[in-house]
Amino acid sequence: MSIVYIVSAPSGSGKSTLVNELFKMVRNLDFSISYTTRLPRGSEQNGKEYFFVSREEFEAMIAADEFLEHADVFGNYYGTAKRFLREAEARGNDLLLDIDVQGAKQIKQRIPEAVSIFILPPDREKLEWRLRNRGLDSETVIRRRLDTARREIENYSKYDYILVNNLLEQSADQLKNIVLAERLNKKRGAGLSEDEKRLVETAQACRLDQAREQVQPILASFNPQTVDGN
Ligand code: 5GP
Repeated sequence: MSIVYIVSAPSGSGKSTLVNELFKMVRNLDFSISYTTRLPRGSEQNGKEYFFVSREEFEAMIAADEFLEHADVFGNYYGTAKRFLREAEARGNDLLLDIDVQGAKQIKQRIPEAVSIFILPPDREKLEWRLRNRGLDSETVIRRRLDTARREIENYSKYDYILVNNLLEQSADQLKNIVLAERLNKKRGAGLSEDEKRLVETAQACRLDQAREQVQPILASFNPQTVDGN
C-alpha cells in the first residue's frame, strides 16, 4: 500500500519550492498532477504542474467518478484523479498531493491513514512580502489571498504535521524527514537503526501536538486587530 502524503499551505508560503526540493531528495515518491479549470500561469505546462481542462471536461470527470477529491478554490475547480493513486501503487511508489484544506479533508475521510502536512509562513508580513515579490497577482488578489490565508491557517489543527517555512534548506530537510519517518513507522516491526531512530525523532518535532505553541504567534500575526494596529 502506498503512503499518501497531503501537503497544504496558504499561497505564498513557499510550498512549491519546498515540494520541488523534496522530490530532488526522496525516491519512490510520485507527484499527483491535479486537474484544474484555471488558466496556466507564466511558464506552466499542461501535464506538468496541472492538467488544464475546461469546466465541461472537469464536470464530465466528476460525473464519471474519476476524482479522489475535488474542490472549488478561488472560483476554479481543482481535483485529484483516482488514477494517480492506482498508478503509484502499481509502481510501488508513495504519492504526494499538493491540495487545499477542503481537498485534504476529503482525502482524510477516504484514506484516514494519509499523512497530512501543513506548511505555514513565519508570519503575515513575510507572506505578504512573498506574494508581492513574486509579482503574479494584482493588489485585489493579494488582499484576497491574505484573507484566505488567515482562514486556511485556522485549519492547521486538522493536520498531522506542521512545518513553519523559515529557511528553505532547513524546511526542505524537515519535510524530507517527515516523509522518511513515516516510511520507517510503516516498517516499525523490522527494528530501526540508531540513525533511523534519530530521523524519526526529528520528524516528531513537527507533530501537531509539539507544534501548537509555535503556531500561536503566527496565527496572532494574521489577526485583523494586529493588522489594523500597524
Ligand atoms: P494555484 O492555483 O495557486 O496553483 O493553487 C491554488 C490552490 O489549489 C493551492 O492551495 C493548491 O494546493 C490547491 N490545489 C491544487 N490542486 C488541487 C487539487 O487537486 N485539489 C484541491 N482540493 N486543491 C488543489
